[in-house]
Amino acid sequence: MMKAHDGMYIGGDWRPAAGTDTIEVVNPVDEQVIDRVPAGTAEDVDAAVRAARTALPSWAATPPAQRGAVIGALRDALAARREEIAETVTAELGSPLPFSQKVHADLPITVAGSYAELAATHAFEEKVGNSTVFHEPIGVVGAITPWNYPLHQIVAKVAPALAAGCTVVLKPAEDTPLVAQLFAEAVHEAGVPAGVFNLVTGLGAVAGQALAAHDGVDMVSFTGSTAVGRGIGATAGAAIKRVALELGGKSANVILPSADLAKAVSVGVANVMSNSGQTCSAWTRMLVHASQYEEAVELAATAAAKYGERLGPLVNAKQRDRVRGYIEKGLAEGARLAAGGPESPREQGYFVSPTVLADVTPEMTVAQEEIFGPVLSVLRYEDEEDALRIANGTVYGLAGAVWAAEEAEAVAFARRMDTGQVDINGGRFNPRAPFGGYKQSGVGRELGAHGLVEYLQTKSLQF
Ligand code: NAD
Repeated sequence: MMKAHDGMYIGGDWRPAAGTDTIEVVNPVDEQVIDRVPAGTAEDVDAAVRAARTALPSWAATPPAQRGAVIGALRDALAARREEIAETVTAELGSPLPFSQKVHADLPITVAGSYAELAATHAFEEKVGNSTVFHEPIGVVGAITPWNYPLHQIVAKVAPALAAGCTVVLKPAEDTPLVAQLFAEAVHEAGVPAGVFNLVTGLGAVAGQALAAHDGVDMVSFTGSTAVGRGIGATAGAAIKRVALELGGKSANVILPSADLAKAVSVGVANVMSNSGQTCSAWTRMLVHASQYEEAVELAATAAAKYGERLGPLVNAKQRDRVRGYIEKGLAEGARLAAGGPESPREQGYFVSPTVLADVTPEMTVAQEEIFGPVLSVLRYEDEEDALRIANGTVYGLAGAVWAAEEAEAVAFARRMDTGQVDINGGRFNPRAPFGGYKQSGVGRELGAHGLVEYLQTKSLQF
């Protein structure tokens, strides 16, 4: 596992932090402190932004194919550290090692590879009548990331930003700073020029706030809670800065009566429980036709109970307590407990039992707010219009799923959903498809070519 650096990665070197405060990194499985990283201040953020500004002109002028080659080297450096990445994420996030290997390590390696290729192939120049349009980097990017897919969320911002010719200052989540430091080591090894990528660890309200508000930052890319995203959007708006926000979700898994019910329920439960339910795009509301409702609840309860042994803890005590509070609130508002419950399944660690709530109605808190834990709500609908109303009846619109016997039937329903991604009959995650939210789930898209253009601005020359 990664051993923590006691400094910040700024201008191509590990430099001592401006202050002396540190953040403890805790293993959520046994609640032991495993390491410490420096808690950055506004002074550290300022040094990092200056380094990123200094590096910008030369990186922006580097031919895109060459930027792609550097990102390719970064991909290879990450791939060489696959096991270390997985062990580090397991230690600080608590996810079971096989999941850390297959998802927390392999997914960002794939995404980095996709941007190595996109940098080299994207059309950074086009002709429009008598104009030539150049797609130029937006400038210095402040990236603020959460802990739930800690390396994926870093790479999903840094790789496209670098491909676009931007330079970056990253402020990773305080719960998972070790994999961010490991990423900085890989950046260094890959030969990314000094100052093109900079890392400041620290608290959101201090280092994150300073980065989002810094005059030298041209764009803020944030993933995390809607509450913090709203504040970052307001700060960016006041400064007329580009902003990208990936926020919460409350996605619907709509099982139409013609679907293979057993398959739809079992894939749906696995989707919610994976990463201990700490997935913004998780299908936390399962919508089932009244005629199949009790059967679906039974299937879901059995699948959730089976999942129990494979479930990791939540990231910290606050999240565990929050999730247990939501389960209690659901029961108090009239939901029926079909599996799991609010009691701690173990004496040590931030564990919550895989929980299924039945008889959930659309206006209940558990059907409206993001829980961010292993909790599935099963809702009943009467007909397709009712299902659509329930599916679209939250402030969020990040993802979703539709199941039907015929693809065309599922697609017709999906087209009416107010959401950025829909999986049809269990369609696979596509790391090149645009990812992002309708409504309050966010602004902008990540991944693939759509994620790259977020970091570009256009200049038109007329002839
Ligand atoms: P958060 O929004 O507080 O933190 C996300 C990132 O923002 C972290 O790096 C944090 O340090 C930083 N941050 C916090 N306050 C800031 C501020 N004032 N200015 C600038 N940066 C700031 O999220 P959290 O507390 O880690 O999780 C709380 C909830 O957020 C979760 O329960 C979940 O609902 C949601 N969440 C969503 C996602 C997602 O992918 N959409 C990811 C993580 C958490």
